[in-house]
Amino acid sequence: MIRIKSPGEIEAMRRAGRIAAAVLQEMKQMVRAGITTAALDKKAEQLIRKAGAEPAFLGYHNFPASICASINEEVVHGIPGLRKLKEGDIISIDVGVRLHGYYGDAAATFAVGEISPLAARLIEVTRQSLYEAIKAMRVGGRLSDISHAVESYVTLNRFSVVRDYVGHGIGIEMHEDPQVPNFGPPGRGPVLQKGMVLAIEPMVNAGGWEVEVLPDQWTVVTKDRSLSAHFEHTVALGEDGPEILTVL
Ligand code: MG
Repeated sequence: MIRIKSPGEIEAMRRAGRIAAAVLQEMKQMVRAGITTAALDKKAEQLIRKAGAEPAFLGYHNFPASICASINEEVVHGIPGLRKLKEGDIISIDVGVRLHGYYGDAAATFAVGEISPLAARLIEVTRQSLYEAIKAMRVGGRLSDISHAVESYVTLNRFSVVRDYVGHGIGIEMHEDPQVPNFGPPGRGPVLQKGMVLAIEPMVNAGGWEVEVLPDQWTVVTKDRSLSAHFEHTVALGEDGPEILTVL
């Protein structure tokens, strides 16, 4: 069942979303060669708690950290640790925040120093595919219009979309109905309505779409070990169109 949010609930989600956005902005500032992902995680947790919120990922299905930190061929759900970032790496950081019972969820991929032209293009195409998806979100449209917008933009740019992990509804739970795939034909699925809030999150691989999970049971990597990027916003649908909640 898709839970429609009232204007008051959307305001609560704006507040949570703003904290997630502030954390990502700080992560962007901190990302550089030599820093560990554990240091990024620690700072993220501090910022979230200072804002009066809670890190939504910490303890979620026993996940041990406040952010997911996924480097290079890691797609999502990387566990922060003592690995140091290196010049030329790309790192996807995903952050979830709970404030007064409402969630915000956002992710972005950052360059560590100078990166390859391929890595830079992957980041840019993935970022833009998220905005193409948001543009496709309108009252009276269908859920899979969003999915199709991601897939067609990514395919046009000769990258591939991860199929095993998808976006989701969000609100009083981090993962609510509906699932929001990043692929598929348009014009299918639920009719989009005012008050729906979705976490839209394209995961894009430079090689094939297939992924696998590492023995740590969390880290998702590309099967061919090609690079992967990830961007996510929590987006509310209003009468006049989509509103990104995970912004400053
Ligand atoms: Mg999410």
